[in-house]
Amino acid sequence: MIKDIIAEGLAAGWRHIDGAGLQKDQHLQCDVLIIGSGAGGGISAQVLAQAGLTVIVVDEGPLKSSQDFKMQERQAYPDLYQESAARKTKDKAIGIFQGRCVGGSTTVNWTTSLRTPDLTLQHWQQRWGCKQLSSDALRPYFEQAEQLLGIEPWLSTNANNGLLAKGCHALGWSYQPVPRNVRQCWDLGYCGMGCPTNAKQSMLVTTIPAALNAGARLLSRCRVETLDISKQAVHGASLQALDQQQRPRKVKVKVQARHVVLAAGAIGSPAVLLRSQAPDPYLLMGKRTFLHPSVMSGALFKQEVMSHQGAPQSVYSDQFVWSDGAEGPCGYKLEVPPVHPILLATKTSGFGRFHSEMMQQINHLQVTIALLRDGFHEQSVGGEVQLRGDGSPVLDYPISDFLWRGARRALLSMAELQFAAGASKVYPLHEQSQLVSSWSAAKQLIEQLPMQALATRLASAHVMGGCPMGGDEKQSLLNEQGDFRWLTNLSVIDGSIFPTSLGANPQLSIYAIALRNAQLLAKRLRV
Ligand SMILES: Cc1cc2nc3c(=O)[nH]c(=O)nc-3n(C[C@H](O)[C@H](O)[C@H](O)COP(=O)(O)OP(=O)(O)OC[C@H]3O[C@@H](n4cnc5c(N)ncnc54)[C@H](O)[C@@H]3O)c2cc1C
Repeated sequence: MIKDIIAEGLAAGWRHIDGAGLQKDQHLQCDVLIIGSGAGGGISAQVLAQAGLTVIVVDEGPLKSSQDFKMQERQAYPDLYQESAARKTKDKAIGIFQGRCVGGSTTVNWTTSLRTPDLTLQHWQQRWGCKQLSSDALRPYFEQAEQLLGIEPWLSTNANNGLLAKGCHALGWSYQPVPRNVRQCWDLGYCGMGCPTNAKQSMLVTTIPAALNAGARLLSRCRVETLDISKQAVHGASLQALDQQQRPRKVKVKVQARHVVLAAGAIGSPAVLLRSQAPDPYLLMGKRTFLHPSVMSGALFKQEVMSHQGAPQSVYSDQFVWSDGAEGPCGYKLEVPPVHPILLATKTSGFGRFHSEMMQQINHLQVTIALLRDGFHEQSVGGEVQLRGDGSPVLDYPISDFLWRGARRALLSMAELQFAAGASKVYPLHEQSQLVSSWSAAKQLIEQLPMQALATRLASAHVMGGCPMGGDEKQSLLNEQGDFRWLTNLSVIDGSIFPTSLGANPQLSIYAIALRNAQLLAKRLRV
């Protein structure tokens, strides 16, 4: 019998309000209001509540538990993801996956836990003035996060990952095992639908329970519309209660707070600031939002691959991430995704009979993805979070020729790798693509494919930036402790604070910097 951590906590008296059940308007007070309960918000909640501060955590998504996680895409996507996992950039060219539930994206992520690359931190120091964030200075926080969340290399590899390793090995390319944030993982492979066994050490089962045990209050299905700002200071926020389908209800909540931590994620945090008309003298808000836009390549093998089973990611290759230096041509990291039917059906190109034949071969399909490292080059400036007429956010992310060149090279590398691993056919994901049976045919095809929005298939589960930290006020909204430069009582602690993308999966970078900045904040607020 799997222990339901959430049901037990609620029965033991955790203070939780579900916006869908609220009968009348509320007015609440606390020392710290935390907006968002994902990687940044979860860590902040534990640190600040355990420091003895009164904390309210609010999330626009629902509070779910292991019992609700049924390993069913059709249920998980509408329940746990922003826009039912169909969020897209403004021109619809890049699919964006983000969590929308208590625990945020950590509840649905694939558990890969990598430290921020040294070259990224060096670039931030030199180019963005993040002088305090060296690898040495962050090491204790990486270690704390790794201990807290059980992060260790995962050595049992499914065939999808095994073929990535095999291809790298055959070509002499570097590859490494993935460290994961799991304890007693059953190796099911359904991490993206919420962990049914509580093995994944997401914020839902670690820091949020710890914060609630320390007396914090949780408001789920309550969306922060605006921050309450006057006299260059933040005094709290105005919230909208949501119903079970995430639609606004008539009920409103006001929270008055000594300090606000904005942790609504990249896209979510800039959106709250934009809706609040927060001061932004250098017009930086929401700009330089990054995605690691990812191109994909399918490969058919004679044997079954069963890419839906087992730890989703257990091998990666950094062969091409830094090959030309941080500021050279676009680098890319090679990984695999889990291959579940809805995910595949919505990401694979083609339609009709061709699409149906691809879907029928799902158990023989290996998929490799290449995550483009954006934001390090002057021609790679990322996207901009904008508000629609109803105040909801959308990311405008035009793709530069610099990134398209990276995308083409990445498609070539992936096809080469898949044939080296023994693929019988390879299918670069593109509207004008076809199945090819040899590396030379793949090369010919990929060199001719037009690299264009909506033709080349792109997706991302890594949203970063939009509220950048740094040393220069003309280039950054926040200092390195996450304090908003133009308003007192406001910090931002989540993935939106990065001045570039990372060149690595983001969760451990967010945990470590959140631990650092939340601990510094707790010291200041306790005085
Ligand atoms: C499918 C998937 C797989 C991934 N796999 C990995 C992986 O293997 N390794 C890795 O390192 N990273 C992975 N990631 C990314 C990683 O989980 C995120 O980068 C990280 O969780 C971001 O943390 P955050 O605090 O910035 O935002 P989030 O964790 O996304 O949390 C933000 C929270 O804010 C809430 N929110 C937003 N707006 C409001 C508002 N106005 N009012 C109230 N609440 C609001 C949201 O509902 C959400 O819960 C994955 C992500 C996804 C979606």
